[in-house]
Amino acid sequence: SPRMRFAPSPTGSLHVGGARTALRVSSVVFSPVSGTCCGRYNWLVARQEQNGKFLLRIEDTDLARSTRESEESMLADLEWLGLDWDEGPGVGGPCGSYRQSERSHIYKEATDFLVRAGHAYPCFCTEEELETKRIAAKMAGSQVAYDGTWRGADADEVQRLLESNTPHTYRFRTPKGKIVRVDDRVRGHVEWDVQATIGDFILLRSNGVPVYNFCVAVDDALMGVTTVVRAEEHLTNTVRQLLVLEALGFKEPSYAHASLILGSDKSKLSKRHGATSCGQFRERGYLPDAMINYLALLGWNDGTDKEVYSREELIKSFDLSRVTASPAMFDDAKLRWLNGQHLRSMSLKRLLPLAREHFKAGGLLDDAETNSAAVNDFIKIAATSTQPKAELVTDMVDLTRSTLAYPLLETVKIQDCNEEASVLAKTVTKVLDDDFISFSKALIDSYDAREAPPFCYDAALAADANPSSVLEWLEALGGRLGRSKKNLLMPARIALTGK
Ligand code: GLU
Repeated sequence: SPRMRFAPSPTGSLHVGGARTALRVSSVVFSPVSGTCCGRYNWLVARQEQNGKFLLRIEDTDLARSTRESEESMLADLEWLGLDWDEGPGVGGPCGSYRQSERSHIYKEATDFLVRAGHAYPCFCTEEELETKRIAAKMAGSQVAYDGTWRGADADEVQRLLESNTPHTYRFRTPKGKIVRVDDRVRGHVEWDVQATIGDFILLRSNGVPVYNFCVAVDDALMGVTTVVRAEEHLTNTVRQLLVLEALGFKEPSYAHASLILGSDKSKLSKRHGATSCGQFRERGYLPDAMINYLALLGWNDGTDKEVYSREELIKSFDLSRVTASPAMFDDAKLRWLNGQHLRSMSLKRLLPLAREHFKAGGLLDDAETNSAAVNDFIKIAATSTQPKAELVTDMVDLTRSTLAYPLLETVKIQDCNEEASVLAKTVTKVLDDDFISFSKALIDSYDAREAPPFCYDAALAADANPSSVLEWLEALGGRLGRSKKNLLMPARIALTGK
């Protein structure tokens, strides 16, 4: 059965590039029988029909840079995107632990196995000796720094040094004259002359910490990974990983190295281009379905010019063989547009909780305002009346805020011609006391009778506005209506500003 993994390093937040890889990993299944890409299955279908598995592996060997916090935020982002995994942190599985930092004993065993089989050997070179070798190699123009000092060392001497606990690393015995080839699903045929380019590389450092490429190869082998989909920058790692896999006696997986994502200026997408992490898009009011749709289109098309896809449609159409080898450009405007497409087709059932969350985050509701009928009505009216105009969920917040800030005097006056505004006005008044409408009407009458300060009528005069003259006007009006001060200024403020 196909087994595919997404293997993030928890050193930050989930980047859109990582999310795109996870999407591809979860969307593509290679047929293990024919060895070819059958592509038209996503992880759900794979589970049902082929028993395929999506593995999530946390690559936290870099202890200095990896954090649990980062891991947790990545898992939360994957969950938000709906890319759930069959095996990995939180769910477990037969090949656990799925965290490299908890697999040290496995890498040690793999090293021992490779030493016994003659594929690895201890190296006692000191840091100073290695530095000298690096300088010499550089001067000679060689790509390989380590000259194999301990490759053919005398077994008795090695034994003696090991017994006296002399610090040592373990190195891989890279076969001489070997050419490593990979038939990459995206990049085509790639090959390396290993002796000329990599030499005998380290597997375990002298402090016992395994090197990254070794862990990846061991894990891909032991986790039965059939397909490796990852970023192009890992292509050159494939050579070391393939050598280790072969030495361990495992069948190599298929590889697909995806191209980079570029920013609008054609340099690698990075923070200075704006939002790059899934969490940022989430906060800004993007929808997971739109993100999935956009990420799928980034470096892929189905051969038609279709752009808006539901998840189900993507599942049917996505095919790794149509992934482009050239870099894709991240286009914020297009993502925003796609988000609008998904937002508009969203059901009320899904829209309302999301609107509530964002109205709260945007300060339109406070935490105390929970589930009262008035608040629910407000959310429903505000969400449905802004949904057709919004691209992001946060646009709904902004549109609602500016509708509320619309002088209610105008809103009440135009209630016959502007249905949306009048509904909103009524909703707002429901939250207030019963005589609010009559008070608003009295305000309008007073305004129409030009009792308000002159600058209220003419924007050109507003620069000279004297706020205390508004207070005077309102107090005079309140006195006439017999309203207490307490019941005057706040309602007037809401009537005038909607806030
Ligand atoms: N841990 C690597 C990363 O986060 C991925 C390596 C791989 O997929 O083999 O970039």
